Amino acid sequence: MKQFVYADNAATTQLDINAFEAMTPYLLDEYSNASQPYSFARSAKKALKESREIIANCIGANSEEIFFTSGGTESGNWAIKGLMECGKEQKVVTTQIEHHAILRACRTVERMGCSVTYLPVDMQGVVKPDTLKERINGNTKLVSVMYANNEIGTIEPISELCAIAHERGALFHTDAVQAVGHVHLNVKELGIDMLSASAHKFNGPKGIGFLYIKKGTKLASYLDGGAQEFGMRAGTENIASIVGMAYALKENTAIIDNNISHLTVIEDEFFAALQEKNLNFIRNGAKLHMPGIISLSFPDHDGEALLHRLDLLGICVSTGSACDSKNTRISHVLQAIGLDERYAKGTIRISFGKNNSVDDAKRIAEALSRILQ
Ligand SMILES: *Cc1c(COP(=O)(O)O)cnc(C)c1O
Repeated sequence: MKQFVYADNAATTQLDINAFEAMTPYLLDEYSNASQPYSFARSAKKALKESREIIANCIGANSEEIFFTSGGTESGNWAIKGLMECGKEQKVVTTQIEHHAILRACRTVERMGCSVTYLPVDMQGVVKPDTLKERINGNTKLVSVMYANNEIGTIEPISELCAIAHERGALFHTDAVQAVGHVHLNVKELGIDMLSASAHKFNGPKGIGFLYIKKGTKLASYLDGGAQEFGMRAGTENIASIVGMAYALKENTAIIDNNISHLTVIEDEFFAALQEKNLNFIRNGAKLHMPGIISLSFPDHDGEALLHRLDLLGICVSTGSACDSKNTRISHVLQAIGLDERYAKGTIRISFGKNNSVDDAKRIAEALSRILQ
């Protein structure tokens, strides 16, 4: 029997049905442009304002510190390219395990004449604060470290790293796309200057996200045009998606503790089932990791082949991120943690979300054991 199991929630999540329903009025009836002065635009304006407040509340920010973007990629690009200046002796310190949105934005500022340091991580994917201390210098304008890694789930010591950046006079950005809406997170407690998030990773719609910019941070505007987003990011607001994002974030934030327990049970049951089948594998990542993100390496197997065999059984998982090089077929994250090639090539990422069940986990364990034996 082929039953569909979606276990790729780190790639994207299903839109929450209530978030969808909150969006529809703004697609159909309340279609006004929020910048217009007539009363028909009042409802769009109000929705925009309320959504900004809801989102700010969920992460401990003030509403004028939330800037809507088209998603995680744009937010990360803005934080880096909007801060670094052409031809100046400025440095970005980031890590070897960032999402390509960050890594490639860093390549761009390198071409602009800035320098970039890519910090190594330990075998669990953790950025050691001492490593940052060694590599940061007086020219460092920005430190950008992801909150949680999308391939192996490792959570980074953000507040500690941020404190080091501030001691050296640098600003701190975190790509928190995997974390927002999934773990408790407060921008003021962390002390960070900028944070990127994306709605479709927390059961909101695709193509919408936000950048938190701490009040007083001197970041250049990202898109030139109208005065939207306090003159920082032009373009008519996508009210429906903004409303959907706010709704989804509020819903997910309200159930964070329950969802973490739910995902922990699923993980435990999953590993118990794998143990029972006597499969030979290792789990990548640190003890402190995103609930539900599971990176497994099966030595002397091919991750891509495993993915396709699971697909034939109706199961969606992933091999992690796209590879940097066509010939190594090993992701930059697995290279950075120094995973042996025998294991790295046999790696798959299973990522459970709030809509998954223990039954899904058992099904995947069963399928894996059938494929591997
Ligand atoms: C998905 C993801 C992104 C990109 O977000 P989009 O909204 O898809 O552009 C950036 N960083 C991380 C860690 C991600 O998981």
